[in-house]
Amino acid sequence: MNRLPSGASALACTAHALNIIEKTTLNHEEMKALNRETIENFQQHVNPGFLEYRKSVTAGGDYGAVEWQAGSLNTLVDTQGQEFLDCLGGFGIFNVGHRNPVVVSAVEHQLAKQPLHSQELLDPLRAMLARTLATLAPGKLQYCFFSNSGTESVEAALKLAKAYQSPRGKYTFVAASGAFHGKSLGALSATAKATFRKPFMPLLPGFRHVPFGNIDAMRTLFQECKKTGDDVAAVILEPIQGEGGVILPPAGYLPAVRKLCDEYGALLILDEVQTGMGRTGKMFACEHENVQPDILCLAKALGGGVMPIGATLATEAVFSVLFDNPFLHTTTFGGNPLACAAALATIHVLLEQNLPAQAEQKGQLLLDGFNILAREYPHLVVEARGKGMLMAIEFCDNDIGYQFASEMFRQRVLVAGTLNNSKTIRIEPPLTLSAEQCDQVLRAARHALNSLQETQRQAATEEE
Ligand SMILES: *Cc1c(COP(=O)(O)O)cnc(C)c1O
Repeated sequence: MNRLPSGASALACTAHALNIIEKTTLNHEEMKALNRETIENFQQHVNPGFLEYRKSVTAGGDYGAVEWQAGSLNTLVDTQGQEFLDCLGGFGIFNVGHRNPVVVSAVEHQLAKQPLHSQELLDPLRAMLARTLATLAPGKLQYCFFSNSGTESVEAALKLAKAYQSPRGKYTFVAASGAFHGKSLGALSATAKATFRKPFMPLLPGFRHVPFGNIDAMRTLFQECKKTGDDVAAVILEPIQGEGGVILPPAGYLPAVRKLCDEYGALLILDEVQTGMGRTGKMFACEHENVQPDILCLAKALGGGVMPIGATLATEAVFSVLFDNPFLHTTTFGGNPLACAAALATIHVLLEQNLPAQAEQKGQLLLDGFNILAREYPHLVVEARGKGMLMAIEFCDNDIGYQFASEMFRQRVLVAGTLNNSKTIRIEPPLTLSAEQCDQVLRAARHALNSLQETQRQAATEEE
């Protein structure tokens, strides 16, 4: 049925929605109705493609579970009351957990006072957050532009670099194969995946991709660009590729890229949308090797899993291209009081509870455990890798990864596995995961691998 809702039935929709929003619990009938309605709404009005895709994680192949609320700090609860240990962390949003009380309290207080800014008077929280980030970030990153997402933080970075380098006659941008920087037309030009790019070509001119982690390839490109007059304006990199499957470059790669950029007068943009805010065991992943970018992109966990916010930090030299006309690049909701309150509280929690260091310790605990499992089940697992709480397990094929994710889901541990691409499964828990919860994850993983092995054995005997 594809009937457009009339004004009256839209009002019925909103009344129904407000009623659900106000509820704290659902009875069995309401739960079933909400699940049915959600699936139907996805089918008819969101995108039926998601239903097929999310089927990948449900037990018994029925359509995706419907989420209802945050559970404890590291769990979430579906409409049926099933509680999941969150080892996906919203792909790196929930670094300080779900509904972290400090973040929620800051946002609630700000909500009661003034959720959004006037757009005309000076807003104090934006100013405080900019100063906090400048103090926290490495090197000479001093000024900060705020937006609402990672993609927008990359978009701002690219525009800053363009405005800085165009007058210098430098127009070429270098990104890495396997990179993910977002899907707006600018950010997508830096993103490397053909599936995402092909339908939208031609993208921005001047973007080149080199193999990630290979400094010689990067140097060769710089040299060739120099020869042809296509001088490099900027290099954009993730210190560790997240969406690309948790790919760590060899030691020394980032410092070498920094050196190359300096040699040629190119800017270094680091996209720490996923690796930032303590995820890899330092506040920012570039700190592992003391690399200082000219532009730094943040988002995802910056809003503490409560508010969306993106930030683009730059040195004074670069950012000053916006001084004469600050309206050169703006966005209405960027740096709004609610988002800034959330980010300030998030940074406070990360620092006060020393969460980056905790990420390093617990990440090591988990990775050691996964490595033991990888050795015990070599016919299922290729390897486990990662840094801090950004980890991946690579399976021998898509099917095994998919079954592993399903098996973990049955044991109420949420990991990132999809039907399309489950050869590599990402593990990105909140940094607040407890030691017991780490053990729980490892026990669940062992159990999952064990039952996968059993299934394989049975299949083998049946074939004989
Ligand atoms: C997720 C991600 C983005 C895009 O962020 P959105 O908030 O989804 O727009 C950009 N860069 C990296 C490295 C990311 O992981």
